[in-house]
Amino acid sequence: MDQEIKEILITEEEIQQKCKEIGAQLTEEYDGKFPLAIGVLKGALPFMADLLKNIKTHLEMDFMDVSSYGGKNIRSTGEVKIIKDLDTKVEGRHLLIIEDIIDSGQTLSYLVDLFKYRKAKSIKIVTLIDKPEGRIADIKADIVGFQVPNEFLVGYGLDYDEKYRNLPYIGVLKPEIYNR
Ligand code: 5GP
Ligand code: MG
Ligand code: MG
Repeated sequence: MDQEIKEILITEEEIQQKCKEIGAQLTEEYDGKFPLAIGVLKGALPFMADLLKNIKTHLEMDFMDVSSYGGKNIRSTGEVKIIKDLDTKVEGRHLLIIEDIIDSGQTLSYLVDLFKYRKAKSIKIVTLIDKPEGRIADIKADIVGFQVPNEFLVGYGLDYDEKYRNLPYIGVLKPEIYNR
């Protein structure tokens, strides 16, 4: 698997360090507020797991699965579909949306509108990676782990055709993998 990666952009150590920093910040911000942490499946799973271990105050977790990509597309289609909705009521709750990456912003923009409509008390977005050059929707994360240039990344939750999510780092695929 590793030999299919052209370049490691963010190492495992850098990711873990970042989870500690952001976790400490969120511990302060949410102390006593019992936030609902919402992971956007499947990509946010590794980041969510590592980040939440570093938030040292009570919180609740839930998951949402939405899709705006299909199969081998490497750009968002712009159309967001709910695959799995939350089990928890968001009305009156402090929400922390956890994302792997923001590119066009269309997925998040859809989710934020949905949660506003459902009367969340507050909404904060934390994303491990931000690709600001890809932005189409008018949306900004409150907390960004790493800003990266407009390249297609894999690893640590990010997939190409459902593979590479289990890499512990974030990297760029060798071009021959797409061209197969
Ligand atoms: P957006 O709606 O912001 O365009 O895209 C959000 C979703 O697109 C992310 O949660 C992720 O699933 C996917 N995505 C965006 N950029 C990349 C990338 O560089 N690599 C991979 N594997 N997925 C990406
Ligand atoms: Mg995602
Ligand atoms: Mg994907």
